[in-house]
Amino acid sequence: MRYLILSDIHANWEALQAVLERAGGKYDEILCCGDLIGYGADPNQVCDWCRANVKVVVRGNHDKASVGLEDLEWFNPIAKAAALWTQQTLTPENIEYVRNLPQGPLTVDGFQIIHGSPLDEDEYMIGASDAAQLFSYLATSVAFFGHTHLQGGFIWNHSRIEMIGKPGPRKSEEVLEIDPECAYMINPGSVGQPRDADPRASYVVYDTGARQITFYRHSYDVVKAQAKIMQAKLPPLLAERLAVGR
Ligand code: ZN
Repeated sequence: MRYLILSDIHANWEALQAVLERAGGKYDEILCCGDLIGYGADPNQVCDWCRANVKVVVRGNHDKASVGLEDLEWFNPIAKAAALWTQQTLTPENIEYVRNLPQGPLTVDGFQIIHGSPLDEDEYMIGASDAAQLFSYLATSVAFFGHTHLQGGFIWNHSRIEMIGKPGPRKSEEVLEIDPECAYMINPGSVGQPRDADPRASYVVYDTGARQITFYRHSYDVVKAQAKIMQAKLPPLLAERLAVGR
């Protein structure tokens, strides 16, 4: 099976469309590590599409915040404003859908999908030291997570932790061969709001038969996504950051 694994779409319809166009024919099923909405201007379009097309989704903190399942006190003012706008914009069907998204980790076909960490859906795994503590909590040797919006992840190689790099600025893909002796926590990166200094939309394809994970980056119509954010009167910073990938 070939899985298209998405994370942190954040209501960015233009980025999602570009990813689907480029990934066409490369996958059999679609999975998502959470944060479908929050920040971007198209929460209903993204939710409608996910309901129809994504096989398994774990919820993210912005999904919870946008349907009243999270205390907004923990959010910075910009994230809070976006969550409140999203809450007012979502259709009743989409509120119901997001409210019922399951908490990760979930196991799918011998691997796990997670929003934050194997222990805590809201925890950020950024550096190798964060990951080192958490490999022992995985139920499978391959897992996918999101939340940080940083494409890459970690390899456990006999108690040594290695960090996985993203494709460089001139590359649009990078293949990782899965070694059965190692364990992997893979971050597909963010579709709709990358924060690793590369504004291109991120995702991975996991081919379980070939035991290969391919990291992809693709550009999309950032200007259009920015214009929609401004038109919706969401905080302008949410538009500006898309251009720089921060
Ligand atoms: Zn996110």
